[in-house]
Amino acid sequence: MTSTFQTAIKQLNSITPHLEKEFGKEKTKKIISSLKQPENIIKGKIKVKMDNGQEKSFFAIRSQHNSKRGPYKGGIRFHKNVSEDEVKALSFWMTMKCAVIDIPYGGGKGGIKVDPKKLSKTELKRLSYAYSEFISDYIGPKKDIPAPDVNTNSQIMSWMLEAFEKKTGKKAKATFTGKPIEKGGSLGREKATGQGGLYVLDAYTKQKKLKPKDLTIAVQGIGNVGFWFAHLAQKTGYKIKAISDSSATILLKNTSPKELLKLKQKHGSLKEVARAKKLDSIPPQKVLELEVDILVPAALEEVITVKNANKIRAKTILELANGPTTLEAEKALIERNVDVIPDILANSGGVLVSYFEWIQNLKNEKWTEEKVDKQLKTKIQKAFKDILKIKQKYSVSYRKAAYMVGVSRIIQSMNLQ
Ligand code: NAD
Repeated sequence: MTSTFQTAIKQLNSITPHLEKEFGKEKTKKIISSLKQPENIIKGKIKVKMDNGQEKSFFAIRSQHNSKRGPYKGGIRFHKNVSEDEVKALSFWMTMKCAVIDIPYGGGKGGIKVDPKKLSKTELKRLSYAYSEFISDYIGPKKDIPAPDVNTNSQIMSWMLEAFEKKTGKKAKATFTGKPIEKGGSLGREKATGQGGLYVLDAYTKQKKLKPKDLTIAVQGIGNVGFWFAHLAQKTGYKIKAISDSSATILLKNTSPKELLKLKQKHGSLKEVARAKKLDSIPPQKVLELEVDILVPAALEEVITVKNANKIRAKTILELANGPTTLEAEKALIERNVDVIPDILANSGGVLVSYFEWIQNLKNEKWTEEKVDKQLKTKIQKAFKDILKIKQKYSVSYRKAAYMVGVSRIIQSMNLQ
């Protein structure tokens, strides 16, 4: 089986011929080989006292992939499947994402192999403290700036910052982003990934001369990303036809995404919502196969594979989840002229607003939500245009074009002879 990191490297290798045309064989070889491994991996066991008085150890890791364009940046996830391979791949994608959207960071990612649902709040706090102390020598506002990721949130960032400041004896709130507003977090961060995805979609539909009111959308996932995207897209005029969670897909008629989220919070799952409110529903994975113009995977990785690629009827896929489409599936989709707008652009709104939070912390500023949104829109739509230019120049997919934009920016910062 191909590892996640191998998949990432395959994506990088696929643009070698185009890079060679632009930068020559020597430079291309140097850059590709420097991106094939993270610059630094910090890993080990961290010990945490559990509520029953016993000590338990957990595997903890931080991958610092590439610092040529600035400090490392990337989330910390708490998940039972955290592995070195996955964290390395995610840190590589962060390097690409930051270069594509042109913010002065390299990629990082971290994690703890743990099922956080099995921990009490006090155990979770001690685990967060222990992880922050474990990586404290390697992070800081100009070194490496972690953020929330799967199963971590603003509360956990706040605990990690406390532990970091205690251990180092320095006040440095710009060390973590995704903090609560009162601890230096940014307005507009919660909706940032969904909002950024919508700005990308707007730029895409504009260049295709399509109008939101004529376009139908199906969204997989009603978590942070899926909900905010669906809610904001509907407000802009797009027609949200379906939203799923892990239990069911609801076919929306008169219910808005906001009302659906409220119902899910009340009834526990979309399956229960369908039952209680007598809404039309189909199995969860069927959301991917609906007759809509735009499909938005916003939940899990590798949901679009060779097994279902030919059943997808949407003409455009906007990847808001990380890695929802396998390489082979993407090939099959492109052959059928389906546009796949890649995750490293489409879901970069989160890291962009993290970057704005970092700037606000360093300059002691507080931006309004309007300012955050405006800057997000400008930066993400500029990245879309840069990618489109390269896509048209080389007749390649959006993903390959995005990689070329990212790698070219890294090459420029490397001063290769
Ligand atoms: P979340 O935990 O808030 O939501 C995940 C959603 O996926 C939930 O609604 C859950 O019910 C749904 N889900 C789980 N299994 C499913 C299944 N089998 N079928 C359909 N739905 C299913 O997570 P999130 O923060 O919204 O992140 C979603 C994705 O976006 C992840 O891939 C994440 O890495 C990526 N992402 C998130 C951010 C961010 O800022 N939160 C930024 C970039 C990328």
